[in-house]
Amino acid sequence: MQLEKMILRVEKIKLELQKIGSMRPGSLNKQFTVCGRPGCRCVDPSKPKRHGPYFQLSYVHNGKSTTQFIQKELVPVVSRQLKTYKNFRALTAEWVDLALTIAMEKLAEDKAQLKAQSSSRRL
Ligand SMILES: [Zn+2]
Repeated sequence: MQLEKMILRVEKIKLELQKIGSMRPGSLNKQFTVCGRPGCRCVDPSKPKRHGPYFQLSYVHNGKSTTQFIQKELVPVVSRQLKTYKNFRALTAEWVDLALTIAMEKLAEDKAQLKAQSSSRRL
């Protein structure tokens, strides 16, 4: 990609990041459980039917992992926040990739310019 195109893409990423809504890191898992109470449907010997689904949200923040249950009514909201966070991460990762490439190209340009200056001074 050309330098100008990369710089434009970075500007686009910044605009997209401004529009980012409510977000949170983590993943949502569906769980079924067995309570073990005698006679309960979950321990039925012929056709056990486990309890659930329960939705479990897990995430790691500042090195600490947390797991919490999410009521099924709140699953759509949380799912949206998780999706938004993934988008946020993808955008920032792309920005870092572009920033690094842009910085390397600028460094090479500056180096070439310094070399040209020092050789012209010698003349
Ligand atoms: Zn049970």
